[in-house]
Amino acid sequence: MKRIDKAYINGEFVTLHGNDVFDLINPSNHQKIAEVVLGTEQDTIAAIAAAKAAFKTFSKTTVEERIAILERLKAEVSKRQEDLIEVMIQEYGGTRKFCEMSMQFTVSAFDSTIATLRSYDFQRIAGETLVQMTPVGVVGIITPWNASNSFICGKFATAIAAGCTVVVKPSEMSASQTEILLECFHAADLPKGLFNLVNGLGSTVGATITAHPAIAKISFTGSTITGKLIAKGAVDSMKRVTLELGGKSPNIILEDADLEKVIPMAVFGAYMNSGQACVAPTRLLVPKSKLAEVNAIAKAAAAQVQVGLPTDTASHVGPMVSEKQYERVQRYIQLGLDEGAELLAGGLGKPEGLEDGNFVKATIFTGVNNAMRIAQEEIFGPVLSIIPFEDEDDAIAIANDTNYGLAAYISSGDEERALRVAAQIDAGRVNINGFKHDPLAPFGGFKQSGIGREYGTYGLEAYLEPKAILI
Ligand code: NAD
Repeated sequence: MKRIDKAYINGEFVTLHGNDVFDLINPSNHQKIAEVVLGTEQDTIAAIAAAKAAFKTFSKTTVEERIAILERLKAEVSKRQEDLIEVMIQEYGGTRKFCEMSMQFTVSAFDSTIATLRSYDFQRIAGETLVQMTPVGVVGIITPWNASNSFICGKFATAIAAGCTVVVKPSEMSASQTEILLECFHAADLPKGLFNLVNGLGSTVGATITAHPAIAKISFTGSTITGKLIAKGAVDSMKRVTLELGGKSPNIILEDADLEKVIPMAVFGAYMNSGQACVAPTRLLVPKSKLAEVNAIAKAAAAQVQVGLPTDTASHVGPMVSEKQYERVQRYIQLGLDEGAELLAGGLGKPEGLEDGNFVKATIFTGVNNAMRIAQEEIFGPVLSIIPFEDEDDAIAIANDTNYGLAAYISSGDEERALRVAAQIDAGRVNINGFKHDPLAPFGGFKQSGIGREYGTYGLEAYLEPKAILI
């Protein structure tokens, strides 16, 4: 049985001190793939020490030197794209389509960071004063399992651009993917101590990073509940935090939208990354007068959604990452039934022929009231709630009636009108008439979806401290 027992510290693969292991299970068939040794506080402290020592020199590197490192990383990660995709499918259960797209994002993160770096002014004048944008220090990077490589590369690339060194704690469930990524990073011939990584649990490795005084900033992507723990832990040493947390994103369909076009898109969009996407549009807000028509189109669209093995290129929805996640989604489907929502498609249990993995039926509830828990809480599975509204103002009120504020989507035949509605929505990203991604535009959440922004200049500045020099 394969055993992953190495951390990456100070440019070397070193054996972890931990005795405990975590089993890596293929979510499509429950076969054990490998086991990962869980790192300890001691391992984490060693990684932090290496990053701290390296910061002294790395923080003084030039833009050109940083760009050269980013280019090398891009080249090495690009070489292993196929391996990374295969392991992601096996370990995480992402569909081939999703994993390929995620890999494109992963590689393009280096390009967009280079573009940002080339145009960024680290010195400027405010009033009569020289302002220098200086690297914040050692950054602790803590990531989830739903697009592991992409988060690690995106955050690490930004840290490099800023002149920061890092200690990374990926999800323990992503250790096989991380192992390949580490091989890429090692091949990129990085300065020693620039990148350090320790596998392990959040309660040990994550908590040590959060508490350690030598960590100046934490960049975290994960659940809101963990984000709050990190924010509380970070305040004692006044760490800067960027928190990319959960979502319950509204998808507003105004009555002048072409329903035959936008409703199928809304259904497939809600199931992006098998429903395990922070930005998934899981609340579909539709005009009450058109509910019957929407239901019919949505039901027909759901019948086209193929839940299947992630290796199959035809599959739109793969298994949930773990049995725990499968059980969580089942509990929410039961809750929807108990709350009195009308089941339009899917429901409890596994689709026929897929009993060996963590597969969930592509599920739609309709006639959902926004006060129901299925409309308020992040399910993180292929479960869509259709919520009727009376008029535009009601749609805006329902869209904003949530603790979250990560993304929102608006469909309308009138772009000006959609823009007016967008201005009234509390969300970090609002998509009009489609699902778009811009790696240079800020990404992050309002309210309990997080603190701070990633990507482009906004993301870079979250790793920098302005220093005013008055002469
Ligand atoms: P999670 O919060 O359970 O875990 C995320 C990471 O935090 C893991 O590495 C975990 O080990 C670590 N962790 C757990 N407890 C910790 C602690 N006490 N201290 C420090 N670290 C700790 O999230 P998950 O289940 O891995 O991922 C799914 C969640 O991530 C969803 O809520 C989803 O919305 C969110 N997410 C957000 C974004 C975004 O950009 N906003 C993107 C993807 C996922």
